[in-house]
Amino acid sequence: MNNKKILILPGDGIGREIVAEAVKVLHWLGQRPGLDLTFEEALIGGSAYDAMGTPLPDETVARAKSADAVLLGAVGGPKWDSLAFSLRPERGLLGIRKALDLYCNLRPAQVFAPLLDASPLKREVVEGIDIMVVRELSSGIYFGTPRGVETLPDGRRRGFNTLTYSTDEIERVARRAFEAARRRRHKLCSVDKANVLESTALWREVVSDLGAREYPDVALSHMYVDNAAMQLLRHPRQFDCIVTTNMFGDILSDEASMLTGSIGMLPSASLGDHNALYEPIHGSAPDIAGKGVANPLATILSVAMMLRYSLSAPGEAERIEQAVNRVLAKGLRTADIMQPGATQVGTVAMGDAVMQALDEEN
Ligand code: NAD
Repeated sequence: MNNKKILILPGDGIGREIVAEAVKVLHWLGQRPGLDLTFEEALIGGSAYDAMGTPLPDETVARAKSADAVLLGAVGGPKWDSLAFSLRPERGLLGIRKALDLYCNLRPAQVFAPLLDASPLKREVVEGIDIMVVRELSSGIYFGTPRGVETLPDGRRRGFNTLTYSTDEIERVARRAFEAARRRRHKLCSVDKANVLESTALWREVVSDLGAREYPDVALSHMYVDNAAMQLLRHPRQFDCIVTTNMFGDILSDEASMLTGSIGMLPSASLGDHNALYEPIHGSAPDIAGKGVANPLATILSVAMMLRYSLSAPGEAERIEQAVNRVLAKGLRTADIMQPGATQVGTVAMGDAVMQALDEEN
């Protein structure tokens, strides 16, 4: 049995609270037959800046590179908002994704049956949705150079960023998306703005060529991002896998999260060729940090993704997902997914309920 090293990066705000609940699940898993896990913890984001003067200490990167998987909470908060961009907590997150070359972000949006009525959309629109958004994560406009704010000769200031994609960057994430579609319902929708942006016209060309060449069994379609934003609300069941650029994926996956009821429910996996990082898609939620009310389920479900994609334990992943489903079916809800007639619980009680559901199953 191979020992697997997991690096825990709680980060800032609710990150510490929700990760503590996911760590309970990880420790439970560590005692399961067939899984031999060791854990390390390190700093990232604002807490790293406070302790070490940088949002991404070298030591954190080194430990992440040598880990089999990384679990991250969230980074950021108003305390650090006045820092220079290069020192902000969010730079820590972008930095670690870049350092580990995590170019492929998988964001599933699935509705748990007990939460059908928690979605702001009508039940008949969201019932049965099962979408996998594959977002390019290490290139595009969030990383392109030149970038900055300059002062023009006439005194006006001008901000600028650069959207670039090379063929290899497009092809490697598209390949992951085709593979994901192959494991699902064999449908892939590539989202771009090829009518306006040259770099995404190239995106469309490369995705089309790869599909025709290597994945004729996957039905490939293309959609402009503005239409995709609309279709996600109008008829979300039409989507199986979506593949898109870094910024479009950032926005569309948050939109898809609302189909499922709450951003507090959605996990993600960020995969490279050698490393993987798992995190909820939400941020550090400064408005509720420290109150013990944050929903830990997205982070716990991120552990399930870790089991599937890094620890080769899909059965354990399912066990966790079913435990979450049973807890929801019992009527337990954190504030963000609260419904009439349900029982409202805090972060720790929700984590304990998942643990109890896991124990009961044995
Ligand atoms: P956010 O995701 O932190 O919060 C958006 C809203 O969703 C808030 O009302 C919040 O209370 C709620 N929410 C988020 N997670 C929740 C949970 N688990 N349970 C219950 N409610 C939850 O986004 P924001 O407010 O735009 O950003 C806050 C900070 O987080 C900023 O500093 C931002 O840069 C950072 N951020 C970090 C990440 C990350 O670490 N991956 C992602 C997005 C934003």
